[in-house]
Amino acid sequence: MRYIDPHIHMVSRVTDDYQRMAQAGCVAVTEPAFWAGFDRSSPQGFYDYYVQLTEVEPKRAAQFGIKHHCWICINPKEAEDVGFAREVIALIPQFLEKPGVLGVGEIGLNKNSKNELEILEAQIDLAAKHNQLVLVHTPHLEDKLKGTMLIMDAIANDGRIAPDRVLIDHVEEHTVGHVLSRGYWAGMTLYPETKMTPQRAADVIECYGQERLWINSAGDWGCSDPLAVPKCQQEMKLRGHTPETIERISYDNPLTFLSQSGRFSIE
Ligand SMILES: [Zn+2]
Repeated sequence: MRYIDPHIHMVSRVTDDYQRMAQAGCVAVTEPAFWAGFDRSSPQGFYDYYVQLTEVEPKRAAQFGIKHHCWICINPKEAEDVGFAREVIALIPQFLEKPGVLGVGEIGLNKNSKNELEILEAQIDLAAKHNQLVLVHTPHLEDKLKGTMLIMDAIANDGRIAPDRVLIDHVEEHTVGHVLSRGYWAGMTLYPETKMTPQRAADVIECYGQERLWINSAGDWGCSDPLAVPKCQQEMKLRGHTPETIERISYDNPLTFLSQSGRFSIE
């Protein structure tokens, strides 16, 4: 069954993963900018990473018939040095003009610190000024609910970006209701251990319905599974969900949200 993986860090994956994803039905991916597993030592390091996202990965994906798109930002883990982060942010506008760039992301909070919040606000401002979609990373574990609320408040306080142009990712059972009720899109990340399993994601779909909800693998350099989306499709199928419901969650919904950018294409 065809699917879109709207959050996966392909720079960290081998080419065989593209091949296996294509065989499992993947037609498109979107790759948010994120932490490399170590802090970059200069803004130039980010520049090179953005070139990799916008020029190198689309070519690697195309070999397997997968359309690659990306999001540009500085992630919250590297926002503690505010001066450094602002230098990086100054590099971003030129990349927002490139084909296949869908918006600003994944921005958000990690430890909910004051500096992270300052850089989050700077990037909300950037997205608003350039009329961009936003993809949001929410913190893990005990900081998640508080961070999710802080992020939604920051977007609402800015006031220029409509909630339906923002996807709040890594939602879990205790945050998904807050996100959907405020009009945002919600993403469920399927990880082998932390975050959501395919079973938990199927439970959430059964409790909250299918509107403004998607699933992704967030595959990266850590323990993660680039085939998590088709595994969740399989879980839904075993539970008796219709092909229409499964396709809505794993294909139609990402297509609807991402198409608002005017730059998403699967042709
Ligand atoms: Zn991510």
